[in-house]
Amino acid sequence: MIGLSGIHKRFGDNLVLRGVDLGISEGHVTALIGPSGSGKSTLLRIANLLEIPDAGAIEIGNHRLVFEKGVRPPQADILAIRRQTGMVFQNFQLFPHRSVVANVMEGLVTVWKWPAEKARRHAMELLEKVGMANKAEAWPATLSGGQQQRVAIARAIAASPTLLLCDEPTSALDPELAAEVVEVLSALAAEGMTMLMATHDLRLADRIAHQVAYLEDGEIVEQGPPDQMFRHPSDARTVRFVRTLT
Ligand code: ATP
Ligand code: MG
Repeated sequence: MIGLSGIHKRFGDNLVLRGVDLGISEGHVTALIGPSGSGKSTLLRIANLLEIPDAGAIEIGNHRLVFEKGVRPPQADILAIRRQTGMVFQNFQLFPHRSVVANVMEGLVTVWKWPAEKARRHAMELLEKVGMANKAEAWPATLSGGQQQRVAIARAIAASPTLLLCDEPTSALDPELAAEVVEVLSALAAEGMTMLMATHDLRLADRIAHQVAYLEDGEIVEQGPPDQMFRHPSDARTVRFVRTLT
């Protein structure tokens, strides 16, 4: 079980997360939905400790960290959690001055100290898996958004993370390119990759999520399987929000 519990986060006067509890079973996909500004990206950034929560606890793999306002945990503990995660961003964020294959190899070589040749072989296998092996030597800027995102997914899973975090992975893409990315994420989900994904894409969430959690005003208002959340939500706030999804 991967768990976020009692997560609080404040930016100045803005209390963005006010006690979020979220458990993700291994091999399951949780979709995080909610209005703009509800704290979805903040929660994902907390899950890999790009942002440090003011209070709460995070448990991933064999690592558990408890947070207290004003106390920054030791960097080694932060890295131990971060290294269990991979992250996919809305706008891909590939390294622009590196080839596709070099993007996928980067973390294996710099963080995990793999020899370059072994990293390249593994990167090629991953590119094969996301249908991008034929573009291994291309520059990111020459690829479509859907292709860039598939490379970004290969990069994010390169070190076999315990948890894959995706922040609106399809929302910068036209529908047909988004569909390519949905296919790749769906295949990963079918293989048992544990994921936490913020998304406004009803089709994506409905297709691959086991659980959907609705975040509003820094709290999880309701959560359940997609069928319940999208077709029979019980909280009036969820009902109202789900109508806005496309
Ligand atoms: P969207 O759907 O638009 O992506 P979101 O649910 O991802 O929204 P967040 O980006 O998590 O929302 O932002 C939640 C709130 O936290 C917003 O009010 C935002 O302005 C604020 N916020 C996020 N990051 C910071 C930061 N680094 N400093 C100050 N405020 C921040
Ligand atoms: Mg966001």
